[in-house]
Order: sequence, then C-alpha cells, then structure tokens
Amino acid sequence: MTKSNDIRQVIIIGSGPSGLTSAIYTARAGFNPLVIEGYQAGGQLMMTTEIENYPGFREGIMGPDLMQEFRAQAERFNTEFITADVTKVDLTGNVKKVWVGDNLHQSKTVIISTGASANFLGLENEKRLIGKGVSSCATCDGFFFRNKTICVIGGGDSAMEEAIFLTRFASKVYVIHRRDKFRASKIMAKRAMDNPKIEAVLDSVLVDVLGDNVVKGIKLRNVKTDEISELAVEGMFLAVGHTPNTKLFEGQIDMDKKGYIITSESKDELTTTNISGVFACGDVQDSRYRQAITAAGSGCMAALDTERYLES
Ligand code: NAP
Repeated sequence: MTKSNDIRQVIIIGSGPSGLTSAIYTARAGFNPLVIEGYQAGGQLMMTTEIENYPGFREGIMGPDLMQEFRAQAERFNTEFITADVTKVDLTGNVKKVWVGDNLHQSKTVIISTGASANFLGLENEKRLIGKGVSSCATCDGFFFRNKTICVIGGGDSAMEEAIFLTRFASKVYVIHRRDKFRASKIMAKRAMDNPKIEAVLDSVLVDVLGDNVVKGIKLRNVKTDEISELAVEGMFLAVGHTPNTKLFEGQIDMDKKGYIITSESKDELTTTNISGVFACGDVQDSRYRQAITAAGSGCMAALDTERYLES
C-alpha cells in the first residue's frame, strides 16, 4: 500500500461543475487542491447536449465543452488531477484519508462533489438490454437510432430534452409518463410536444421491455384503466431522475433518507457536513435545484467555507 506522507490542504472528490468550481477557488487561494475526478470525469454535463441557460454563453454551449473550460481553468491555477475513482475514505480524524486503490492520500479538508447518477426502473429485462437498446444517455447513444422508433421514459425536463435531441436521429419518439401532467417546465414540455416527431403516452407505466437480444418493444400499463398495451420501439431511454453518489460515505456522513448529504445545518456555512473539515457541494447535497449554475455556485461556497476552516 502506498502512503503519501504529505498532508494536503484540500482534496476534492468529483469533477462536475461544483467540484471544479471549488478547485478553481481553492487553487486561486493557494491551497493546491487535488481533484480526484473519477473515471467518468466531468459529471452529468458530459452527457448533455446544448446548455442554453448557463449564464455567459448567450448562444448556448455544449455540456462537454463547458466542462472542458471548467477543467482548463482549474488547471491554469495548478490544480492537480487524478483520473480514477476513490475507493475508500476515512473522514473521521483531523487528517482525512482518501484511498484510490492502494494509494492513500491525506488532507486537512475534503470537499465532496460526487454528484448524482441516472436512475433505472429495476425491471429485469431493462437491465438485461442495457446497451442493446436500453440507455440512460441520449447524447451517448442517440446516434444508433437513426430512422428508428424509440421512446423516452419520464416526464421531467430531462425527458423533454432527451426526446427533442433524439428527434435528430429517430423517426418517431414516444414520451411515456406515469401521470397525466408533465413535471417538466412549461417551455420545455411545449417545445417537445410541438415537435411533430414526438408523441406523448400519458398515465402509463412500463411493465416490461421486450426483445431477446435487442429491444423490440415495451409493455405498458395504463394506470387509470389497468389496460396493458405493447408499443413497438427499438430503443428506450430512461429519464426518471437521479440518485446521489454517496455510497462511499455511508456510515460516516449524515445523509437524508434518499442518500443526499445533509449540509447547511449551520446558518453561517451552508456547505458544512456533520464532520468538521468535510464539505459537500453540487447535486450530492442538492435534490432540489440540480442545475449546473447552482452546482457551480455551491462549489464556490464550499471553497470559501474550506478556506475559512483552513485559516482558522
Ligand atoms: P425529475 O424532474 O425528477 O423528473 C423525473 C421524471 O421521471 C418525473 O416525471 C417522474 O415522474 C418520472 N419518474 C421517476 N421515477 C419514476 C418511475 N419509477 N417510473 C416512472 N416514472 C418515474 O428529473 P429530471 O428530469 O432529470 O430533472 C432533474 C432536474 O434537472 C430538474 O430540476 C430539471 O428542471 C433540471 N433539468 C433542467 C434542464 C434544462 O433546463 N435544460 C434539462 C434537464 C434537467 P413524476 O413526475 O410522476 O414524479
């Protein structure tokens, strides 16, 4: 086991908008942060298309391009990066311990910004057909569905965004939603429903995904009539919300019942956790706003709280 004798000032776990913003701030403050960015660096924006609501980009910017800018800005101020996943942490003492495989990294503070991941519905055939027509990432896999009929499950902004994006490839996109009203913002829902390639199937839940080796269709149950129907689709995209990436911290950090890290117990410092010297920012502690800009904002707050902690 390799042990680094250096005790760093700041380790940041995660590299979405919140983690990289906290890196930019702590780096500029001279704390030489180490970002352990994960194998899937950049967070959820790496899987989005155009972002139209991130201030400063009036023509919009592609998610991966935005994250590249964040990372380059953090690098400019000498942030160090490790492109791997953290495998274990011990956050209890004054010196925090973070392992990447056999390598131990030690630090006075840790900023957790591990974000959240896409949910699946938990059906056996859904799992079996992942990568064979079932996907949670329209931008990654949309290309494979040129001129095909596909569906998106969900009624939030992500479902609308994915459905609209998928019309670039697919000939028809059904949006399957379990209620009769979308959760999505009015503007996003209207944009999707105005698209001639998109058709809503409301009050419907998925009961099965059909197909032996690839997706051939889906089986739905109408929640009002209990009627079962089948829809022929060759692709199914999940957009049914997210789960915070907090497994690593279970038993060490206070979380709510959905697994989001509890912050803002203190009125003075909104990113503190129950452990002194450990801060959290971004989607891992925010089930409400979940925007790139709010994540970046909370990353800045975590950096300022960390700086204050280190200086006191
Ligand atoms: P969300 O708002 O939580 O929506 C999840 C959707 O999935 C809901 O419609 C929900 O149904 C449905 N769902 C959840 N579990 C389900 C299940 N087991 N079976 C069937 N349906 C299920 O998540 P999101 O769409 O990923 O959006 C997350 C946040 O990011 C939101 O704040 C959103 O505004 C934001 N966002 C913004 C943009 C943008 O502005 N460009 C794009 C994407 C996301 P119910 O409605 O019945 O609960």
